[in-house]
Amino acid sequence: MTGRVLSHLGETKLELGPVEPGPGPWRNARDADNVLWLVLDVDGSSMNTISEEVIRALDSALQDAGADLPKAVVIRSGKVAGFAAGADITGFEKMSSTGATEMLQEAHRVLDRLEALDCPTICVVHGAALGAGFEIALACDYRIATPGASFGLPEVQLGLHPGLGGTFRLPALIGPTEAMQLMLTGKTAHTKRAKSLGIADLVVEERHAAAAIASVIGGEVKPAASGFTARAFGFDPARSLAARKMRSETEKKAPAKHYPAPHALIDLWEEYGDDRDRLQKAETDSFALLLRSEASRNLRRAFFLRQGLKDAGRGEDGITHVHVIGAGSMGTEIAAMAAIRGKQVSLGDLSEEALGQAVKRTAEICTDKHLDSLETRDALDRLMPDPNGYGLAQADLVIEAASEDAEVKAKIFKGLKGKLKKDAIVATNTSSLSVDDLAANAPAKSRFAGLHFFNPVSKIDLVEVVRGTATSDKTVQRLAAFCGAIGKLPAKVADSPGFVVNRMLVPYMLEAMVLMDEGVSKEVIDTAALRFGMPMGPVTLADQVGLDIGLHVAESLSESLETKMPPISDDLKRRVEGGDLGKKAGKGFYDWSKGTPHPDADLEDAPDDLRDRLILPMLNAGAEVLRRNVARSADQIDAAMIFGTGWAPFRGGPMCYAQTRGVDDVVRRLRELETAHGARFAPDDGWSRFA
Ligand code: NAD
Repeated sequence: MTGRVLSHLGETKLELGPVEPGPGPWRNARDADNVLWLVLDVDGSSMNTISEEVIRALDSALQDAGADLPKAVVIRSGKVAGFAAGADITGFEKMSSTGATEMLQEAHRVLDRLEALDCPTICVVHGAALGAGFEIALACDYRIATPGASFGLPEVQLGLHPGLGGTFRLPALIGPTEAMQLMLTGKTAHTKRAKSLGIADLVVEERHAAAAIASVIGGEVKPAASGFTARAFGFDPARSLAARKMRSETEKKAPAKHYPAPHALIDLWEEYGDDRDRLQKAETDSFALLLRSEASRNLRRAFFLRQGLKDAGRGEDGITHVHVIGAGSMGTEIAAMAAIRGKQVSLGDLSEEALGQAVKRTAEICTDKHLDSLETRDALDRLMPDPNGYGLAQADLVIEAASEDAEVKAKIFKGLKGKLKKDAIVATNTSSLSVDDLAANAPAKSRFAGLHFFNPVSKIDLVEVVRGTATSDKTVQRLAAFCGAIGKLPAKVADSPGFVVNRMLVPYMLEAMVLMDEGVSKEVIDTAALRFGMPMGPVTLADQVGLDIGLHVAESLSESLETKMPPISDDLKRRVEGGDLGKKAGKGFYDWSKGTPHPDADLEDAPDDLRDRLILPMLNAGAEVLRRNVARSADQIDAAMIFGTGWAPFRGGPMCYAQTRGVDDVVRRLRELETAHGARFAPDDGWSRFA
C-alpha cells in the first residue's frame, strides 16, 4: 500500500548509510566503521522486483564482501515505496520454457552465500517485503522493520510456492505451523504480527534505523531462534499428521485439482521437512514443475490483467474533495475508501442515523486495512458527515450513491445545478439504470459518467467507469485516475444494460432459479458452480447481493436487452415481497442466521448439463458485450470478471476459458442447450470474431 507507506514516512529520509544515488540494481558503499551497505534500487521502476539481474549483481557484491569481509552487511531498499514486491514475473515466462531449474539453483547459491557470510547480515525493511524480496531478507541474520513494514510469500496466488528458500528458511525461523499458514494462504504479516511471529527482530522508527543497526552489530540484539515447534515437527509421524490436516483444510479453499501449488508445498514439507538439503533441491524441482502448470499460467495471466487495469488508473485525477450522496452500504464504503486514501470527503444523506453509521463503519474498515491509530484518526478527520450538502461547493467529484430509483436520482442531479465548481465531475453508482438517461438531468453531460463500484467496496477492487454518449475523454481519464488513487482497478466500459459484470452475472443467477423451479436443489446448483471454480454458487451469490437488488437488475436487463434472458422466477418475486431479501435479512434462498452457507452436495444425480447451463450463458453474454463494444477486449472482460466477481482465476477468466475449451465447442454446446431449453441459449453472433 504505497500511500500508507508514504504517509508513514512523510518527508522522512531513508537511512541509506554512505550510499549515494546512482545506477542500480544494487548501490553499495562501506561506511567509516567498515559496514557494507547494499541498497536495492532497480532502475526505471518505483518498486523493486527481483530479477535474474538483481540476483547476479547481489552475487558479485557478496563475492567482494567475502574477499574483504566487512564488519557487517546492511541490506535495504532505496525505494520510498518499500523493500521489494517479489520476483519479476515477466521473467517467469522465459523461465517456464527454458532453464528454470538451473536459474533457481544459481539463485539459491547466491542466497546461501549471503546466509553463510561470516559477519552479521541485517535487512532493514520498510513497506512490503514480498516473495523473493522476503526470501532475501530471510537469508539475513537479522530483520529490522520500520512501522508499516509487511512480510509475505504470496506465490500461491500465482499458482506457485516460494522458490528461493522460503519453504525451509521461514519454517526454521518461526516454526512450521505459522510458516506453512503464511505460505499456504499467501497472506501478509504486518509489522506488529511480523514482530510477534519473530520475522522482525526489531521494529523501530525510520529515524532510529541507524541506532538499531549499531545495536545489532554491537551484539545487543539476539536473533529469533529456531522455534520449539520446528523441532517438534522433525519427527516424521508428527509431520505427516499435521500435513494431513493442512491438506484437508487447504482442499476446502483451494482444491488440488484447480490449485496444485499449496498441495505441492504440503507434500514438500511432509517429505523433506527435517532435511534442509533435500528440501532445497525438491523446492526447486517442484517450483519449475508448477511454473509450467496451466493453473500457474492462468494465475500469472490474471496478475498481468490486474496490472493492465492498474495502468488504466494511473495519472492525475485533479480531485481533492469528493462529495458522496447517499450513506447506504455503497456510499459509506466509497466515502471510507476515498478518505483512507487521502481525499477530503463530505458525505450526505437524508438520514442522520445513516451518517452516524457511516462513520462507525469507516473506523471498522480502517481496522480491517491495518491502519494504525494515527492513520485512522486522519482518515476519520477527512470524512465529514454533511447532511446539508455544504461540501458540494468544494467538490471536484460528486458521487451519487442514493437509492436505485430513477426519480430520486433525477431530483438529486437537478438539485446540483448552480451549486458545483466549474470543472466538477458528477458520477452515478447506478447498477441498472442507463447512464445516458440519468445524464439528461446532470449539470454537464460531458462531465457525467457512471462509476460502478461493487459490494463490498472495501474488498472488491474493480470499478466500472461507464462512459455515456456525451461523456468526455477527460472525464473518463480523471475518473479512472481517481479509481487508481483510491486503490481501485478501473475498467472503462460503455453504457449498456448491466455494463459488463452484471450483464454476465444475471443470466448465471437467473438460470440457477430456473433450475430450482425445475426441482434441482440450491445446494446441488451451488456445488456445481463451486466445483467449476466459482468463488460462490449463483444462489448464494443472489442472497449475498440481496434478492431485491438482484430482482431489480434482472427486470431492468430483461426489459432493455434484445437478447433473450432466462425468465424471472415467481419464487424470487415472492421472496422479495415477503421480505426474505437474502443475507442482509438473515434469510433468502438460504437461512443466513447461522452464518454463510457452505453447500457441498453430491452431484451424482445432478442434470448432465447443469454446469454448462450455468457457465456458458456467462461466456455468451461476454461475446455479446464484445460485439456491442461495451468492453474493449476479451482480456478486459476477463479482468473485470476476475476482479469484480472472483471468476475462477485459475481458468484465466471466462473468455480465456472459452478459448481454452475451444470456441467451436462452446458454440456447439450452446446450440444443443438452445434445442433442449430454449432461445436464451442461442449463441451470440459475437462468437464469429473468435473464428
Ligand atoms: P442503500 O439503500 O443501502 O442506501 C441508499 C442511501 O441513500 C440511503 O441511506 C438513503 O437514505 C439515501 N438516500 C436516498 N435518497 C437520498 C437523497 N435524495 N439524498 C441523499 N441520500 C439519499 O443502497 P445501496 O445498496 O448503498 O445502493 C446505492 C446505489 O449503489 C444504488 O444506485 C445501487 O444500485 C448502487 N449499487 C448497489 C450495489 C449493492 O450491491 N448494494 C452494488 C453496486 C451499485
